[in-house]
Amino acid sequence: MFGGTFDPPHVGHLVAAINARHGADLDRVLLVVANEPWQKVGVRDLSPAADRFAMVEAAVAGVDGLEASDIEIVRGGRSYTADTLEQLAEEASGVLFLILGSDAVAGLSTWEHTDRLRETAHIIVVERPGTEGARPPQGYRYEVVDVPLLEVSSTDVRARVVDGQPLDYLLPRSVIACIHERGLYGAGPDL
Ligand code: ATP
Ligand code: MG
Repeated sequence: MFGGTFDPPHVGHLVAAINARHGADLDRVLLVVANEPWQKVGVRDLSPAADRFAMVEAAVAGVDGLEASDIEIVRGGRSYTADTLEQLAEEASGVLFLILGSDAVAGLSTWEHTDRLRETAHIIVVERPGTEGARPPQGYRYEVVDVPLLEVSSTDVRARVVDGQPLDYLLPRSVIACIHERGLYGAGPDL
């Protein structure tokens, strides 16, 4: 499981997912789109979950081993990773891993239901520029998988749309098309 707001998905997410899959020998990586990322609600504008899911679907289309998951959208309400991992464990066989960028690792202690999370999660840490070296608190099972460091964030991408700066190569063309078709982040229909 690789959870996120994915508003929008970018090469940082995709390169991390591909390399975590390769480095930890995972069968598949589910990019789980948060329905209600409760830590962000009220802090900034969020695109509708359906738009974020459509962008993730577009991003992984035709890519071996990466899948978009709407499990949190279908469940509705606030999205807690502990709930999702438990649901996935019931539905799937085999060992479950939770991929987290190091900034998310640094914020783990602010999450809800960490007692259950600690029980179920086997964490794969991928480094992210600015928070290298962050590791889960004591009690979590984790390993670190090497991925190329890419200093790109959804926040930066959204600002680029507003400023009219190029998005090319920071996200797949299919996602850029989706942003324009859906008029996300104030984008017009022109490519
Ligand atoms: P925002 O700026 O809106 O917070 P973001 O780029 O941080 O967006 P999220 O959807 O918040 O993206 O992140 C989802 C997951 O992807 C988190 O575990 C995060 O650490 C990881 N991630 C995001 N960007 C990168 C990156 N450039 N390299 C490695 N991991 C990343
Ligand atoms: Mg983030």
